[in-house]
This record gives sequence, structure tokens and C-alpha cells, in this order.
Amino acid sequence: MRDKILILGGTFEAAAEARRLTAAGAEVITSLAGRLADPPSLPGRVRVGGFGGTEGLQAFIRAEAITWVIDATHPFAAVISRHAQHACQAQGVPLVRLDRPPWAKHPGDRWHWADDAAMAARLTPHLGRRALLTVGAGTLGAFARAGGPFYLVRLVAPPGRLPFPHYQVVIGRGPFALADEIALMRDFRIDLLVSKASGGQATEAKIAAARTLKIPVLLLRRPAQGVAG
Ligand code: NAP
Repeated sequence: MRDKILILGGTFEAAAEARRLTAAGAEVITSLAGRLADPPSLPGRVRVGGFGGTEGLQAFIRAEAITWVIDATHPFAAVISRHAQHACQAQGVPLVRLDRPPWAKHPGDRWHWADDAAMAARLTPHLGRRALLTVGAGTLGAFARAGGPFYLVRLVAPPGRLPFPHYQVVIGRGPFALADEIALMRDFRIDLLVSKASGGQATEAKIAAARTLKIPVLLLRRPAQGVAG
């Protein structure tokens, strides 16, 4: 029987996996949460939007006779990963989790850690006056409340008006080149990079740029994966 694979996506890794498996002859459905108005084009079938919790994901797996699920979601997308674990276990369908390697700290790197966005927002004014904020649209709220420094907010799509006292938005979708990241940080006189500890290659250039410019980096720790509940 030909495999029918559900890829939980929204990442570079998921798109690469969809291309690889489709080329190998597998039937692939990529599932996107629907956060982006213009997601990159993907091979195979694409479905968009939440499943309606674990039950909804189970119903989808049954209705589509899925034989494998690949969780290639972002390391910070902990809810859908948990749902995938429960749904696959309940349906007896194998689940593969594509984990991103964390970024490696080099000698001389000045990395600070925050347990969550609220802690990062509290630390930011103590670490820099002009921060490049690359935490994604869904995490901006905590920083807005903190006020304080100038934020250069990088997002994949234009937001509405942001409730920051001093900010500018730059739109960009990785992968980013090191030379461009250095130029961006220099042009805006950035003295702090704030990022999720996402890992992976597509957005690693900002970490290398901060290293080159000797700029400190404030990293939000990854949420735990595989927590029951
Ligand atoms: P999340 O908190 O783990 O999931 C929240 C809800 O969104 C889930 O319960 C599910 O709704 C729906 N959902 C999430 N991913 C889905 C998918 N691939 N297909 C269908 N429904 C999905 O996720 P998130 O942090 O909001 O991220 C949403 C998506 O953006 C993820 O797919 C992730 O790969 C991508 N992404 C996230 C980040 C990040 O920093 N969080 C960064 C880059 C890309 P139901 O319960 O209704 O099924």
C-alpha cells in the first residue's frame, strides 16, 4: 500500500520534507495553521487551519487513512506537537518528530536566557537600547507592555499598528544571508538581538551577525516538548 503522509508544517524543514517525500513517490498532505496570508507554495496537497484539537486531528487521520505523521512544526509550536503525540498514539499511527539542532554558542558569544517572553521583555531594557526583535508576531505583546528601548521588529508579514513607543518594522522571510544581517544591524545601530532559541540553519545568520558585531543576544528558551496534558 502506498504511504499517505501527513506533515504538520509551517517551517522550512516541513517544506523540504514535503519536496523530498513527494519526489520519492509518497502521497503527502501538508497541514498549515493558516497564520500567513501568502504561505510559500508546497508540493502535494495542502490543508489550512486548525483541526479542532486532538479529537479533530484524530478524525482527520482516520478520514484520510493517514499511515504516517511527521511533526515538522517549529520548536515553539508546543501545542500542536502535543496534540500530534496524543492523536497518533490513540490512532496507532507512527509519528516522527523532526527536531531542529539548537544553535551552538561560540567562545566570546554573550548570550542571555529568558524562560519566556515576559521575562525577555523585562530583561531587554537592561541589556540594550536598540533591540532587533525577531520573536514572531504572536510573541510581540509581552514586549509592547514593557515599553523602553527602540525596537526594530522583524516580521514575515506587515502588522497593524504596534503598541510600542519607539519602533520600526522590517519585513523579511528567511533564509537570511550573513552579510545582510550584519548590514541590517549596522544600519539600525542595533545593540541587542532578541530571538527565540529556534535553532536550525534558516535563521542562524542573525546569531552569526551578532557574534561578528559583538552584540549580546537574548534568547527565549524552547518550550518543553512531549509534556502530557
Ligand atoms: P501551537 O501553539 O502549537 O498551536 C496552536 C493551535 O494552532 C493548535 O492547537 C492547532 O489548532 C493549530 N495548529 C498549529 N500548527 C498547525 C498545523 N501545522 N496545522 C494545523 N493546525 C495547526 O502553534 P503556533 O506556535 O501558534 O504555530 C502555528 C504554526 O506556525 C505551526 O505550524 C508552526 O510550525 C508555525 N511556526 C510557528 C512559530 C513559532 O514561533 N511558534 C514560528 C514559525 C512557524 P487545533 O487545536 O484547532 O488543531
